[in-house]
Amino acid sequence: MGRYTGPVCRKCRRVGEKLFLKGDRCYTSRCAVDRRNSSPGMQTQKRRRISDWGVHLREKQKARWTYGVFEQQFSNYFDLAKLDKGPSGDVLLQILEKRLDNVVFRLAFVDSRAQARQLVNHGYFTVNGKKVDIPSYLVKPNDVIAWVKKDKGTPEFVANLTEGLPKRPVPEWLSLDVENLEGKVLSDPIISAEEMGIETRLIVEFYSK
Ligand code: SF4
Repeated sequence: MGRYTGPVCRKCRRVGEKLFLKGDRCYTSRCAVDRRNSSPGMQTQKRRRISDWGVHLREKQKARWTYGVFEQQFSNYFDLAKLDKGPSGDVLLQILEKRLDNVVFRLAFVDSRAQARQLVNHGYFTVNGKKVDIPSYLVKPNDVIAWVKKDKGTPEFVANLTEGLPKRPVPEWLSLDVENLEGKVLSDPIISAEEMGIETRLIVEFYSK
């Protein structure tokens, strides 16, 4: 199945929460959830009551859409998380955080994970000096992620992308060298379900049913 190419704000409206998929716009009054928090495609303004299974599904979709991961890939990550001795929900979040597109986003190089994924796909980043154009590449502690200013981007294009870096505070498990457009992974991701607004317990239960 191909990647979803419809309006991403529908995903937020579907789960009834802001998933911050569009960068700066999410913090403005143009956010679709702030303007009209009803299910997409419904004429009614009220949300239908959802089943217990629906609640679990919604939490899984929230995490999947937040990180921009395909269904099968997400399920594979969960299988990987189960192999670890730690709590599966926490380990799952850690794996998702290690994705290269997420790390580029966390390094505050770009406004959204979607933008990060696009730049990684187009070969704008190296890991330890080697070009990596796979957004799902999982980074490790001590990896160095560098932004390659490719010749084919016009100076205006590159300047536009790199203007005002870093765009947000960088988490403590990463360090950023703005001058050299480089980031380093200092440790495994430090992330909590509360911080992400995701109830990982429901995801674990979803896959256990
Ligand atoms: Fe979601 Fe951002 Fe769209 Fe608001 S603007 S609905 S937070 S993607």
